[in-house]
Amino acid sequence: MNGASASTATATTATAEPAGEAGAPLVGRFAPSPTGPLHLGSLLAALASCLDVRTRGGRWLLRIDDLDTARCVPGTADQHQQMLAALGFEWDGPVTWQSARGARYREGLAALEAAGLAYPCSCSRRELGAAGEHGGYPGTCRAGPSGLGPTALRYRYDLRPVGPFEDSWQGLCLPESGERGDPVIRRRDGLVAYQLAVVLDDFDCGVTRVVRGADLLGSTFWQRSLQAALGLPEPAYGHIPLLTEPGGEKLSKSRHALPLDPAQGPALLYEALRLLGQQPPAELAVAGVAQCWEWALAHWQSSALRGHAHLALAAGVY
Ligand code: GLU
Repeated sequence: MNGASASTATATTATAEPAGEAGAPLVGRFAPSPTGPLHLGSLLAALASCLDVRTRGGRWLLRIDDLDTARCVPGTADQHQQMLAALGFEWDGPVTWQSARGARYREGLAALEAAGLAYPCSCSRRELGAAGEHGGYPGTCRAGPSGLGPTALRYRYDLRPVGPFEDSWQGLCLPESGERGDPVIRRRDGLVAYQLAVVLDDFDCGVTRVVRGADLLGSTFWQRSLQAALGLPEPAYGHIPLLTEPGGEKLSKSRHALPLDPAQGPALLYEALRLLGQQPPAELAVAGVAQCWEWALAHWQSSALRGHAHLALAAGVY
Protein backbone atom coordinates (compact mmCIF):
# COMPACT_ATOMS: atom_id res chain seq x y z
CA MET A 1 0.00 0.00 0.00
CA ASN A 2 1.42 3.37 -0.86
CA GLY A 3 1.64 6.31 1.52
CA ALA A 4 -1.33 8.23 0.16
CA SER A 5 -3.80 5.41 0.61
CA ALA A 6 -2.28 4.34 3.90
CA SER A 7 -2.89 7.77 5.30
CA THR A 8 -6.64 7.25 5.13
CA ALA A 9 -6.57 3.74 6.57
CA THR A 10 -7.78 2.94 10.02
CA ALA A 11 -6.45 -0.22 11.60
CA THR A 12 -9.16 -1.71 13.75
CA THR A 13 -8.44 -3.70 16.86
CA ALA A 14 -11.19 -2.38 19.11
CA THR A 15 -12.76 -5.23 21.04
CA ALA A 16 -14.69 -3.45 23.77
CA GLU A 17 -17.03 -0.52 24.17
CA PRO A 18 -15.07 2.71 23.78
CA ALA A 19 -14.37 4.56 26.98
CA GLY A 20 -14.10 8.28 27.52
CA GLU A 21 -17.36 9.33 25.96
CA ALA A 22 -19.83 11.54 27.76
CA GLY A 23 -21.19 9.67 30.74
CA ALA A 24 -18.49 6.98 30.60
CA PRO A 25 -16.96 6.21 33.99
CA LEU A 26 -13.85 8.06 35.02
CA VAL A 27 -10.95 5.62 35.14
CA GLY A 28 -7.36 6.47 36.00
CA ARG A 29 -4.28 4.29 36.45
CA PHE A 30 -0.75 4.11 37.74
CA ALA A 31 1.69 2.07 35.66
CA PRO A 32 5.13 1.63 37.25
CA SER A 33 7.90 -0.27 35.47
CA PRO A 34 9.43 -2.87 37.82
CA THR A 35 12.95 -1.96 36.80
CA GLY A 36 13.87 -0.38 40.14
CA PRO A 37 12.32 0.80 43.40
CA LEU A 38 9.58 3.44 43.47
CA HIS A 39 10.93 6.94 44.07
CA LEU A 40 9.45 10.32 44.86
CA GLY A 41 8.59 10.97 41.19
CA SER A 42 6.65 7.69 41.15
CA LEU A 43 4.79 8.73 44.29
CA LEU A 44 3.77 12.04 42.69
CA ALA A 45 2.37 10.20 39.65
CA ALA A 46 0.58 7.60 41.78
CA LEU A 47 -0.89 10.17 44.16
CA ALA A 48 -1.97 12.69 41.52
CA SER A 49 -3.55 10.02 39.30
CA CYS A 50 -5.36 8.46 42.24
CA LEU A 51 -6.69 11.72 43.72
CA ASP A 52 -7.58 12.98 40.25
CA VAL A 53 -10.19 10.24 39.76
CA ARG A 54 -11.08 9.24 43.33
CA THR A 55 -12.18 12.77 44.23
CA ARG A 56 -14.61 12.58 41.30
CA GLY A 57 -15.99 9.13 42.06
CA GLY A 58 -13.78 7.35 39.51
CA ARG A 59 -11.92 4.06 39.53
CA TRP A 60 -8.16 3.75 39.88
CA LEU A 61 -6.22 0.84 38.40
CA LEU A 62 -2.73 -0.54 38.81
CA ARG A 63 -0.78 -1.87 35.85
CA ILE A 64 2.70 -3.36 36.01
CA ASP A 65 4.66 -2.27 32.93
CA ASP A 66 6.89 -5.34 32.79
CA LEU A 67 7.12 -5.38 29.01
CA ASP A 68 10.89 -5.12 28.83
CA THR A 69 11.60 -8.39 30.60
CA ALA A 70 15.38 -7.98 30.39
CA ARG A 71 15.24 -4.74 32.41
CA CYS A 72 12.74 -5.96 35.01
CA VAL A 73 14.24 -6.81 38.37
CA PRO A 74 12.71 -9.96 39.93
CA GLY A 75 10.63 -9.20 43.02
CA THR A 76 10.32 -5.50 42.23
CA ALA A 77 6.70 -5.62 41.08
CA ASP A 78 5.71 -7.22 44.40
CA GLN A 79 7.71 -4.58 46.27
CA HIS A 80 5.89 -1.86 44.33
CA GLN A 81 2.52 -3.26 45.38
CA GLN A 82 3.62 -3.60 49.01
CA MET A 83 4.97 -0.06 49.02
CA LEU A 84 1.78 1.37 47.52
CA ALA A 85 -0.33 -0.54 50.05
CA ALA A 86 1.89 0.68 52.92
CA LEU A 87 1.35 4.24 51.70
CA GLY A 88 -2.42 3.74 51.81
CA PHE A 89 -3.14 3.28 48.09
CA GLU A 90 -6.08 1.04 47.17
CA TRP A 91 -6.57 0.03 43.56
CA ASP A 92 -9.66 -1.41 41.94
CA GLY A 93 -9.78 -4.90 40.50
CA PRO A 94 -6.88 -7.16 39.61
CA VAL A 95 -3.48 -5.80 38.61
CA THR A 96 -2.78 -5.88 34.85
CA TRP A 97 0.60 -7.27 33.77
CA GLN A 98 1.93 -6.25 30.38
CA SER A 99 3.93 -9.48 30.20
CA ALA A 100 0.64 -11.41 29.93
CA ARG A 101 -0.67 -9.40 26.99
CA GLY A 102 1.61 -10.46 24.14
CA ALA A 103 -1.21 -11.84 21.98
CA ARG A 104 -3.14 -8.57 22.20
CA TYR A 105 -0.06 -6.56 21.27
CA ARG A 106 0.58 -8.78 18.24
CA GLU A 107 -3.01 -8.13 17.15
CA GLY A 108 -2.32 -4.40 17.32
CA LEU A 109 0.89 -4.77 15.31
CA ALA A 110 -0.93 -6.82 12.66
CA ALA A 111 -3.69 -4.23 12.38
CA LEU A 112 -1.16 -1.45 11.81
CA GLU A 113 0.75 -3.50 9.27
CA ALA A 114 -2.45 -4.38 7.41
CA ALA A 115 -3.29 -0.67 7.22
CA GLY A 116 0.11 0.13 5.71
CA LEU A 117 1.11 2.12 8.78
CA ALA A 118 4.12 0.02 9.82
CA TYR A 119 7.43 -0.78 8.14
CA PRO A 120 10.53 -2.81 8.96
CA CYS A 121 13.58 -0.77 9.88
CA SER A 122 17.12 -2.13 9.95
CA CYS A 123 18.80 0.98 11.38
CA SER A 124 20.74 0.21 14.52
CA ARG A 125 20.96 2.56 17.45
CA ARG A 126 24.62 3.13 16.56
CA GLU A 127 23.74 4.11 12.99
CA LEU A 128 21.12 6.55 14.17
CA GLY A 129 23.41 8.18 16.71
CA ALA A 130 22.04 11.15 18.60
CA ALA A 131 18.97 11.43 16.35
CA GLY A 132 17.90 7.92 17.37
CA GLU A 133 18.47 8.66 21.03
CA HIS A 134 16.00 11.49 20.88
CA GLY A 135 13.48 9.70 18.69
CA GLY A 136 14.15 11.91 15.68
CA TYR A 137 14.15 9.06 13.20
CA PRO A 138 14.77 10.49 9.72
CA GLY A 139 12.64 7.86 7.90
CA THR A 140 15.58 6.06 6.26
CA CYS A 141 13.78 2.70 5.91
CA ARG A 142 10.33 3.94 4.88
CA ALA A 143 10.82 2.58 1.35
CA GLY A 144 12.34 -0.70 2.59
CA PRO A 145 15.05 -1.79 5.06
CA SER A 146 18.27 0.03 4.27
CA GLY A 147 20.49 -2.75 5.56
CA LEU A 148 20.68 -6.45 6.28
CA GLY A 149 20.08 -8.05 9.62
CA PRO A 150 17.30 -7.93 12.20
CA THR A 151 14.59 -5.33 11.78
CA ALA A 152 12.44 -3.38 14.17
CA LEU A 153 8.96 -2.26 13.12
CA ARG A 154 8.30 1.47 12.97
CA TYR A 155 4.98 3.31 12.87
CA ARG A 156 4.36 5.86 10.10
CA TYR A 157 3.65 8.84 12.27
CA ASP A 158 4.23 11.02 9.24
CA LEU A 159 1.01 9.63 7.70
CA ARG A 160 -1.09 10.15 10.84
CA PRO A 161 0.31 13.23 12.60
CA VAL A 162 -1.86 14.70 15.36
CA GLY A 163 -2.51 18.29 16.37
CA PRO A 164 -2.34 20.08 19.72
CA PHE A 165 -4.09 18.82 22.82
CA GLU A 166 -5.15 20.40 26.07
CA ASP A 167 -3.32 18.97 29.05
CA SER A 168 -4.87 19.43 32.50
CA TRP A 169 -1.69 20.92 33.91
CA GLN A 170 0.59 21.77 31.00
CA GLY A 171 -2.14 23.68 29.13
CA LEU A 172 -2.16 23.63 25.35
CA CYS A 173 0.57 21.27 24.08
CA LEU A 174 1.74 21.80 20.53
CA PRO A 175 3.02 18.97 18.34
CA GLU A 176 6.23 20.87 17.52
CA SER A 177 7.43 20.25 21.03
CA GLY A 178 6.54 16.57 21.02
CA GLU A 179 6.58 15.15 17.51
CA ARG A 180 9.78 13.26 16.98
CA GLY A 181 9.68 11.03 13.89
CA ASP A 182 8.39 7.49 13.42
CA PRO A 183 8.47 5.54 16.70
CA VAL A 184 9.47 1.89 17.04
CA ILE A 185 6.40 -0.26 17.78
CA ARG A 186 8.18 -3.63 17.76
CA ARG A 187 11.80 -3.78 18.74
CA ARG A 188 14.49 -5.72 16.90
CA ASP A 189 14.41 -8.35 19.65
CA GLY A 190 10.71 -8.96 18.94
CA LEU A 191 9.33 -7.19 22.02
CA VAL A 192 6.43 -4.84 21.45
CA ALA A 193 7.45 -1.29 22.29
CA TYR A 194 5.93 0.82 25.05
CA GLN A 195 4.26 3.32 22.67
CA LEU A 196 1.89 0.71 21.26
CA ALA A 197 1.46 -1.39 24.41
CA VAL A 198 0.33 1.56 26.51
CA VAL A 199 -2.32 2.55 23.96
CA LEU A 200 -3.82 -0.95 23.89
CA ASP A 201 -3.55 -1.36 27.67
CA ASP A 202 -5.27 1.90 28.47
CA PHE A 203 -8.07 1.22 26.02
CA ASP A 204 -8.66 -2.38 27.14
CA CYS A 205 -8.82 -1.32 30.79
CA GLY A 206 -11.27 1.48 30.01
CA VAL A 207 -8.82 4.20 31.11
CA THR A 208 -10.23 7.67 30.43
CA ARG A 209 -7.63 9.75 32.34
CA VAL A 210 -3.87 9.34 31.86
CA VAL A 211 -1.91 11.10 34.60
CA ARG A 212 1.88 10.71 34.56
CA GLY A 213 5.14 12.64 34.62
CA ALA A 214 5.94 15.34 32.07
CA ASP A 215 8.91 13.25 30.90
CA LEU A 216 6.31 11.32 28.84
CA LEU A 217 4.70 14.40 27.28
CA GLY A 218 6.49 13.91 23.94
CA SER A 219 5.26 10.31 23.70
CA THR A 220 1.68 11.52 23.96
CA PHE A 221 1.68 12.68 20.33
CA TRP A 222 2.72 9.22 19.14
CA GLN A 223 0.18 7.57 21.41
CA ARG A 224 -2.67 9.82 20.30
CA SER A 225 -1.77 9.11 16.70
CA LEU A 226 -1.79 5.35 17.36
CA GLN A 227 -5.18 5.68 19.07
CA ALA A 228 -6.59 7.41 16.00
CA ALA A 229 -5.02 4.85 13.65
CA LEU A 230 -6.50 1.98 15.64
CA GLY A 231 -9.91 3.62 15.93
CA LEU A 232 -9.61 3.98 19.72
CA PRO A 233 -10.90 6.93 21.76
CA GLU A 234 -8.42 9.38 23.24
CA PRO A 235 -8.18 9.62 27.03
CA ALA A 236 -7.75 12.99 28.73
CA TYR A 237 -4.15 13.75 29.70
CA GLY A 238 -2.53 15.37 32.71
CA HIS A 239 1.28 15.54 32.83
CA ILE A 240 2.78 16.41 36.19
CA PRO A 241 5.59 18.99 36.06
CA LEU A 242 9.01 17.47 36.65
CA LEU A 243 10.66 17.40 40.05
CA THR A 244 13.75 19.55 40.40
CA GLU A 245 16.36 20.42 42.99
CA PRO A 246 15.34 23.21 45.40
CA GLY A 247 16.90 25.85 43.13
CA GLY A 248 15.06 24.57 40.04
CA GLU A 249 18.03 22.66 38.62
CA LYS A 250 17.53 19.21 37.09
CA LEU A 251 17.07 16.58 39.80
CA SER A 252 20.35 14.82 40.52
CA LYS A 253 20.54 11.17 39.42
CA SER A 254 21.12 9.96 42.97
CA ARG A 255 18.11 11.87 44.28
CA HIS A 256 15.96 10.78 41.37
CA ALA A 257 16.60 7.11 42.12
CA LEU A 258 16.31 7.36 45.92
CA PRO A 259 13.92 4.58 46.99
CA LEU A 260 10.87 5.50 49.06
CA ASP A 261 11.07 4.45 52.71
CA PRO A 262 7.73 2.99 53.86
CA ALA A 263 8.55 3.92 57.46
CA GLN A 264 8.31 7.56 56.33
CA GLY A 265 4.73 7.15 55.03
CA PRO A 266 3.01 10.29 56.35
CA ALA A 267 6.09 12.50 55.78
CA LEU A 268 6.28 11.25 52.19
CA LEU A 269 2.59 11.79 51.55
CA TYR A 270 2.82 15.25 53.08
CA GLU A 271 5.79 16.16 50.90
CA ALA A 272 4.14 14.73 47.79
CA LEU A 273 0.96 16.73 48.45
CA ARG A 274 3.00 19.89 48.98
CA LEU A 275 4.94 19.31 45.77
CA LEU A 276 1.65 18.79 43.92
CA GLY A 277 0.70 22.35 44.83
CA GLN A 278 -1.64 21.42 47.70
CA GLN A 279 -1.39 23.07 51.09
CA PRO A 280 -1.39 20.24 53.62
CA PRO A 281 -1.29 21.36 57.26
CA ALA A 282 2.13 20.77 58.86
CA GLU A 283 0.75 18.31 61.42
CA LEU A 284 -0.11 15.91 58.61
CA ALA A 285 3.60 15.10 58.21
CA VAL A 286 3.54 13.40 61.60
CA ALA A 287 -0.04 12.07 61.49
CA GLY A 288 -1.01 8.61 60.21
CA VAL A 289 -1.28 7.49 56.62
CA ALA A 290 -5.09 7.28 56.94
CA GLN A 291 -5.30 10.93 58.08
CA CYS A 292 -3.16 12.01 55.13
CA TRP A 293 -5.59 10.32 52.74
CA GLU A 294 -8.60 11.72 54.52
CA TRP A 295 -7.20 15.23 54.17
CA ALA A 296 -6.07 14.70 50.57
CA LEU A 297 -9.42 13.32 49.40
CA ALA A 298 -11.28 16.19 51.06
CA HIS A 299 -8.97 18.98 49.88
CA TRP A 300 -7.50 17.96 46.49
CA GLN A 301 -7.36 20.96 44.17
CA SER A 302 -6.42 19.84 40.70
CA SER A 303 -6.06 23.43 39.52
CA ALA A 304 -3.24 24.06 42.02
CA LEU A 305 -0.94 22.03 39.78
CA ARG A 306 -1.44 24.28 36.77
CA GLY A 307 1.13 26.85 35.71
CA HIS A 308 4.15 25.22 37.38
CA ALA A 309 7.19 24.93 35.12
CA HIS A 310 8.59 22.39 37.59
CA LEU A 311 8.09 21.17 41.15
CA ALA A 312 11.00 22.12 43.38
CA LEU A 313 11.98 19.99 46.34
CA ALA A 314 12.19 21.83 49.65
CA ALA A 315 15.79 22.28 50.81
CA GLY A 316 16.98 19.58 53.17
CA VAL A 317 13.74 17.60 53.09
CA TYR A 318 14.51 14.65 50.87
N1 GLU B 1 5.66 2.58 32.87
C1 GLU B 1 5.92 3.93 32.52
C2 GLU B 1 6.97 4.49 33.44
O1 GLU B 1 7.16 3.95 34.54
C3 GLU B 1 4.72 4.83 32.64
C4 GLU B 1 3.80 4.64 31.53
C5 GLU B 1 2.67 5.66 31.48
O2 GLU B 1 2.27 6.18 32.53
O3 GLU B 1 2.17 5.85 30.39
O4 GLU B 1 7.61 5.46 33.09
